[in-house]
Amino acid sequence: MTESSILIIGAGHAGVQTAVRLRELDWSGRVVLIDPDIGTPYERPPLSKELLKLDTTEEVIPLRKDTFYEGQAIERISGTVSAIDAVNHAVELADGTRLDYTTLMLAPGSQARKLTCPGSDLPGVLSLKTREDARGIKAVLTRGARIAIVGAGYIGLEVAAAAAAAGCETTILEFQDRVMSRVTSEPVSRFFEGLHAEQGTSLVFGAAVTEITGDGKVEGVVTADGQTYAADAVVVGIGVVPMHALATEAGLKAEDGIIVDADSRTSDPDIYAAGDATRLVWPEAGINRRLESIQSAVAQAVNAANHIMGVTTTKREVPWFWTVQHGVRLQTAGLRTPEDDIVVRGDAQTAPFSVLYLRDGKLAAIDTIGSLKDFTAGKKLIAAAAAIDQDAARDMNIKLSEAVRELASEAQ
Ligand code: ADP
Repeated sequence: MTESSILIIGAGHAGVQTAVRLRELDWSGRVVLIDPDIGTPYERPPLSKELLKLDTTEEVIPLRKDTFYEGQAIERISGTVSAIDAVNHAVELADGTRLDYTTLMLAPGSQARKLTCPGSDLPGVLSLKTREDARGIKAVLTRGARIAIVGAGYIGLEVAAAAAAAGCETTILEFQDRVMSRVTSEPVSRFFEGLHAEQGTSLVFGAAVTEITGDGKVEGVVTADGQTYAADAVVVGIGVVPMHALATEAGLKAEDGIIVDADSRTSDPDIYAAGDATRLVWPEAGINRRLESIQSAVAQAVNAANHIMGVTTTKREVPWFWTVQHGVRLQTAGLRTPEDDIVVRGDAQTAPFSVLYLRDGKLAAIDTIGSLKDFTAGKKLIAAAAAIDQDAARDMNIKLSEAVRELASEAQ
């Protein structure tokens, strides 16, 4: 090896941010991004939002301009890594190329989880991950088209909102008994269900899809109770599968994601990982899970680059997430658990309102529906482990930052 090289597998938000941060910290060796779809890496959130709108001609938004990569000497290689040789510090590409590394960053992301029932490979069964997927979905969202959406998570609901806005006959089939059950509480689910129903979307709960029917093209979706829902296209939004196979084959610890610590280190001292492919195990922050959010991916990338460059401040970002459906924005800060005490701030029938999640009386997480003010205040209060005055918190006329009994640590 003639020169120190940091290879980054995956040019999504996490991969690109790692490269950016390394150059900010004056890493003078090579920085190489490798991705089968390298082009100009782009923003993911608009794919299920702005990009699906009928009136938009907007193309994908680049994460950085081409000139940025050139100016920063960040190399981009189009290719698929087929193996990691951790012992010899090298990766192999599918075309046989071998690249040596000093340090490796794994940021391969995740894939959309697929249905496995009969008919799930029929043309017209779609999922959303890449810009090509988004274009394919947009193409089927025509007035009067019957669109069945499997899964009522962020992706399913954002696509449902776009479909309804495009004048499609939209049906959501969800396995659980409410929307977004993985990420939020019942009052928030109910509010968003109302919003979708008002726009003419049918919501079916307890729906287990057993078959997709059609002859050469999708025609319907069959559920376990024997119902068939006629469909011209089916969009599947049933979660993601982390891409950790390469890491596992290389002997790295993985379990529903490549295991990383707060500094994004894997079980190999010269390999870091960030983003959707990882499971963050950070006992001091009470986190042992996959985070599946761009904000977390970016924080992990920064922490990895910092650690590589010997900068010791770990970025302790409160995890946060967001979605927008029919123009209403849901922003979540912190990680709730179903056991948390719930305090509804305002009226859960009408936005804006917020839902606070308390653990031992302290703010652990918050969902804000149309209230950026509560989101900003809530995020700070979570970081400070603030004990909440519940009566004050219920009252939207009292600022959230003032609905506090005591501040446990660094106040506001
Ligand atoms: P995404 O990020 O793709 O929106 P989530 O995990 O947040 O993923 O949401 C996926 C939703 O899909 C969950 O509400 C889950 O209950 C639902 N789901 C998963 N598998 C099925 C299935 N086979 N049929 C219907 N709904 C499903």
